[in-house]
Amino acid sequence: MQIEIHQIIRSKRKTLALIVKGDGSLIIRAPMRTPDRAIKEFVAEHASWIEKKQAQIKSLVVPSPKQYIPGEMFMFLGKSYPLEIVKDQKKLLVLDGGFKLAESATSHAAIVFERWYREQARKILNQRVDLCASQHGFQHQGIKITSAKTRWGSCSSKGSLSFSWRLILAPMEQVDYVVIHELVHTLHHNHSKRFWKKLEHLMPDFKERKRWLRKNGPQLMVG
Ligand SMILES: [Zn+2]
Repeated sequence: MQIEIHQIIRSKRKTLALIVKGDGSLIIRAPMRTPDRAIKEFVAEHASWIEKKQAQIKSLVVPSPKQYIPGEMFMFLGKSYPLEIVKDQKKLLVLDGGFKLAESATSHAAIVFERWYREQARKILNQRVDLCASQHGFQHQGIKITSAKTRWGSCSSKGSLSFSWRLILAPMEQVDYVVIHELVHTLHHNHSKRFWKKLEHLMPDFKERKRWLRKNGPQLMVG
């Protein structure tokens, strides 16, 4: 099987190198005059390593699509709960030890779940933002809940905050990290040294929280 090379970057280096990026694309770094044939051979030699690496990334970034069947696990605030289908339940979805989905809602379970997550996100994020803002004296212009898949939160130049509802699948430590991160942006609208310094002052262990999000986030972001 032919492996696709997405980009060849030639420079003054002396050796060939393979890079499989976070999106699974393959980049080759090569010395200026390396013939294409030599690059193809190099890729062929390392084909199994490349394929393994790409498969790993794929399994990390694209969890199998949800099927909404009994026993399937769903995340909320860092914990997994099994799905149950319940007869004669008035509310479409209830979290009570497990996610209890009304039988009548099974045909549009994805919509019902998203609505539930959004509602929780609005409630919890409003609370955390208010708490954090009053503790540390931040001013903001209200919050919005989005369905962004590539960013957890953002802060506009006017100080209005946005958060993806997907954030609510992560543990509260990570929710709080994103809340503080966006609130600090109301003071510093960039990722300058002063921004990170302020953040570290308010949340000394922010790096660990950030690392968790980077590592596990893709699983929460998709779907
Ligand atoms: Zn930021």
